[in-house]
Parts: sequence; C-alpha cells; structure tokens
Amino acid sequence: MHCPNYSTCQLIHVSGFVKPETLRDTYISDFCINIPENWKNCKRFQTHSILHFCPDFVLPDIPLSVDEIMDRFDNEISLPINSTK
Ligand code: SF4
Repeated sequence: MHCPNYSTCQLIHVSGFVKPETLRDTYISDFCINIPENWKNCKRFQTHSILHFCPDFVLPDIPLSVDEIMDRFDNEISLPINSTK
C-alpha cells in the first residue's frame, strides 16, 4: 500500500525534484510507501488534498501549515516578471 498520490506526485516521478537523491529516497521510505498511512502526515499530501495541486517548493516535512504554503505560493506568483523596471 502506498500514498494515493503516488502515481502522480512529482517527488516520485520527476528526476532531481529533491536533491540529494538520498533525501528523496528517505522521504519515499518515511512517507510514501513503508509506514502505513503516514502519507497523511506529508505536507505535499495535505496541500494537494486541500488545494488540488501542490507547489514544487513543498516537501513532505516542510515546517509550514497549508495556509502558510498558500501565502508563500501567492507571494511567489505575484512577484513582478521584470523587477528591473
Ligand atoms: S506521501 Fe507525499 S511525497 Fe509521497 S507520494 Fe504522497 S504526496 Fe507525494
């Protein structure tokens, strides 16, 4: 049994999404597959459950609430494209 998002999660399927690779392996072992239903404690899982997407900066153990993740995402997308003007 593994996380319900396993088939679509970028952490699983995008090479280099987490560096180093050993950290990615640890996340997968600790959150995605081995410990029954521990994916419920994964911030990527929690964020996706609420927002129906998950920003790339969110890792399973990021020390932010989903509200804080939303705020950070909103701030990132509202930055000016060309800040030199
Ligand atoms: S536990 Fe988290 S990182 Fe792992 S597949 Fe699910 S959402 Fe992705």
